[in-house]
Amino acid sequence: MGQVTIPRVYNRLKDKVAVVTGAAKGIGRAIASVLSAEGARVFILDADREAGERSAESLRNLGRTVSFVHCDVTSLDSLLQAADEVEKTSSRLDILCCNAGIYPSAMLEQMSEADWDRVQNVNLKGMFLTIKAFLPLLKKAAPGSRIVLTSSITGPITGYPGWTHYASTKAGMLGFMRSAALELAPYSITINAVLPGNILTEGLEGAGEDYLAQMTAAVPLKRLGKPEEVAYAVLFLASDEASFITGQTLVIDGGQILPESREAIL
Ligand code: NAP
Repeated sequence: MGQVTIPRVYNRLKDKVAVVTGAAKGIGRAIASVLSAEGARVFILDADREAGERSAESLRNLGRTVSFVHCDVTSLDSLLQAADEVEKTSSRLDILCCNAGIYPSAMLEQMSEADWDRVQNVNLKGMFLTIKAFLPLLKKAAPGSRIVLTSSITGPITGYPGWTHYASTKAGMLGFMRSAALELAPYSITINAVLPGNILTEGLEGAGEDYLAQMTAAVPLKRLGKPEEVAYAVLFLASDEASFITGQTLVIDGGQILPESREAIL
């Protein structure tokens, strides 16, 4: 039998405009890279100005159309200013990736109200405010515009000590998504979520070597994920090919949620 060559499709997102929050680093930066490589005009939104400018510049050096917009997703004013900037430059928005998130660790007994509020404000309320600010622009590009959320396996499927606040935000994002999918369906706007497992990013490196080793051992594929491996799942959910999928989740975790016992992956 002759070899089957699957052609790599470029420019799947030609003429599309995308916004990715928390895209100065990690998974968000990889999403910005993959979407812009497929022809989208991408706006990187992030609270870290220096890293955001650097990421946008490095993608522009590859010939991509990418801008950085300084933005804090906990502030509706900041998001509305960013939406204004996107509207002035591109007058529409096809793809919104709500990816900004933080995952500080705190055991319940030590967790302060401020610790709880901070994680809720960035991860859950920040997602709501982001969608609120950009919905008018997404409606302009409808039918066919897309929202993709970065949730997590932690919360919706698994648990980990120290992350009660984080886990509740990531599960909350999915509850929000299922109702939002129904509200957005009349405009043919879809909303879906990716659920990454342990992905090696600047943020995760902060969890320390012991944690990283423990997680690597817990993954049947015996390694941590790469940010691009999440980004390609986002690309699919953001593409025209995903037009009949809404309110759904896609786990990207190397099989981490599968084993019924530790022995199953020895
Ligand atoms: P990361 O490397 O820490 O990058 C996140 C970026 O978001 C940082 O540049 C951060 O800036 C920015 N950010 C934080 N708060 C913000 C705010 N209020 N407004 C705008 N930007 C803000 O994180 P990551 O590991 O790529 O994680 C990205 C997303 O994936 C998060 O939602 C996370 O929960 C989710 N996730 C990650 C993993 C993983 O294993 N890495 C697994 C499951 C889910 P600062 O650095 O200045 O805070």
